[in-house]
Amino acid sequence: MAKLCPESDGYMYRLPTIRKVSPLKKIARALTVLVLMVLGALLLVGLAETSPTGGIWGVLGARQATVGILAGHWEYDSGAVCPDGLQEVEITVDIANRVARLLRRRGYRVVILPEYAPQLDGFRGVAFLAIHADSCIDLSGFKVARMTQAVDREQEDRLVEMLVREYADATGLRFHADTITDDMRQYHALRRISPQTPGAIIEIGFMGGDRHLLTQEPERVASGIANGLLAFLRERPSEAAASE
Ligand SMILES: [Zn+2]
Repeated sequence: MAKLCPESDGYMYRLPTIRKVSPLKKIARALTVLVLMVLGALLLVGLAETSPTGGIWGVLGARQATVGILAGHWEYDSGAVCPDGLQEVEITVDIANRVARLLRRRGYRVVILPEYAPQLDGFRGVAFLAIHADSCIDLSGFKVARMTQAVDREQEDRLVEMLVREYADATGLRFHADTITDDMRQYHALRRISPQTPGAIIEIGFMGGDRHLLTQEPERVASGIANGLLAFLRERPSEAAASE
């Protein structure tokens, strides 16, 4: 025998009853709406006061400004590897996330990109930075470079200059201008992003000689990078920042 479906089995159709809302409930609902509105207003005031970019409108304008951070080797390979197994990609992903957090706190939209992200093609933003670490040898120091054939050299030189200044200041590492290779200046991601996007690559230190800094003091590393980017972005005309 076919089984009746439970909905039609033994249930009588009932007329919907009209529920009366008690006046007390109405007051409670009105109060809830009021509380939510007050909380929303407080949030806006809070944003306006903590913003370094000039109030709530500054935050909303800057929020549209996108910064691209490439975590070196992510979703591709390990990068450099130390004898004990420490991988470059572990460091670059950790630092990229920390930098992103610091920039988001200042109102920027941050996209963290893997080494060969399809979004790199024509990527548009107010700044782009690829993060790598140097090999696991007993050397110390960092490098920053822009692409050889940058369209706006003056602007990219300024990006490099700010990163060098702030990174050296935060980490105490020495800048190795003389060891910057053509691989850095011809880095694939810098060739793929939009020519209008100021871009650079940073080698944040050697996994050998700078291991303690890179693995035990990542917040210093990240703040050096974020401060460099922010110093560069602060000098941009505000209308350009808001339109991208
Ligand atoms: Zn690398």
